[in-house]
Amino acid sequence: MKISRSADSKKTGIHTWLMAGNDNILSSVVFAAAVFIPALLFSMKSNSGTVPAAYTVLWCLFAGILSFFMALRDRVSMPRLVFFAVSAAAFLLHFKFYAAHTFPGPDTPPCHIAMSGSFLNYIYQLYLSFKSPVPSVWGKLSMGFLWLFCTLAAGRAWCSWICFYGGIDDFFSSAVPRRILNIDRFVTKFRPLSAALLFGIMLFSFAYMLPQYCIWICPFKAGESFYSAVGLEKILQYAIAAVALVCATILPLLTKKRIFCSFLCPFGAWQAFWGHINPFRLSVDRGRCVSCGKCMSVCPSGAACLKNGSAHISAWCVMCGRCAEACPACAISYTVFGMTVRENITAFARLVSVKYVFIFCSMLLGTVFSSLWGPAAIYELFSAVF
Ligand code: SF4
Ligand code: SF4
Repeated sequence: MKISRSADSKKTGIHTWLMAGNDNILSSVVFAAAVFIPALLFSMKSNSGTVPAAYTVLWCLFAGILSFFMALRDRVSMPRLVFFAVSAAAFLLHFKFYAAHTFPGPDTPPCHIAMSGSFLNYIYQLYLSFKSPVPSVWGKLSMGFLWLFCTLAAGRAWCSWICFYGGIDDFFSSAVPRRILNIDRFVTKFRPLSAALLFGIMLFSFAYMLPQYCIWICPFKAGESFYSAVGLEKILQYAIAAVALVCATILPLLTKKRIFCSFLCPFGAWQAFWGHINPFRLSVDRGRCVSCGKCMSVCPSGAACLKNGSAHISAWCVMCGRCAEACPACAISYTVFGMTVRENITAFARLVSVKYVFIFCSMLLGTVFSSLWGPAAIYELFSAVF
């Protein structure tokens, strides 16, 4: 049975429409359960003993409810943004106020952004230089293996579904209805600069065997954990971190673009490269595209542009889904390595379509990964208030 938005349903009357609506609700419940149940199993395992189980259930339920609305409305971007932004806020709360003391020195913290910049150090030292005891829940499974697994499952979507910092500038880039500054062309043109930044940070980190991204750029570091300098050098570190903070908050508000993630995060460039090993893509059907430029203006990452008379989506795409929902010609869809898979859109069959398999992988990984801080943040907030 076709879901309610198909033209066929109009012809077959209100009963068919209602039945299709029921199918839609039921299949959305199935999808939500498919995210919730495995997310809960894995999250319980990684959180065992650290926070009361009820908070982990609450966190996974939150992800399940958002998955339900994604399926019910067949729209991804708003529930994804809510999940991503709340996850980032929970991380900041937990990390800033409760976990900061676990990183007393200049060691590389268990952070994927630091991992990309310290990759040469890893090659040299034959292990990721994560000396903090915090990721003990992963045992011998290092951050590198965790990243590889996530990249194979969700690829570039890491930067808009999983990253514990990305939700900050994603939130600010979506918080106002209209942009004040139009920098579409600037962002598209200079987007590759982040690859140069990644290269520079890798070399600089390798030369000093220190995580230079953490020391110089990261605006979210806890207190002074990585400010080891004094005098002018320290002032410079603060100044650069302040600029980075503006890029993550004020500039996204003005431009509706993810400025920090697009230009100051080395992991964005890292993932744009490694994302090629993941099969999921957002692709443009050139035959349908009417070159209106809407995808370019809504894209927060400078990944959509107009080229040779039609839209083009580059490797900088973080798979947030905004362009597909904004396109008036329905020319953008989820594909496998750029190839369109012909799909049946019945309410239940769509759950195994490319789009929903992608959402399932991203949402599941995002929930399990964020369960390392989400339930703890809720628990800490409740404990502080009551
Ligand atoms: S929004 Fe759709 S029709 Fe407009 S340029 Fe982008 S892909 Fe083409
Ligand atoms: S191209 Fe589309 S899916 Fe990719 S980042 Fe831009 S808006 Fe999001």
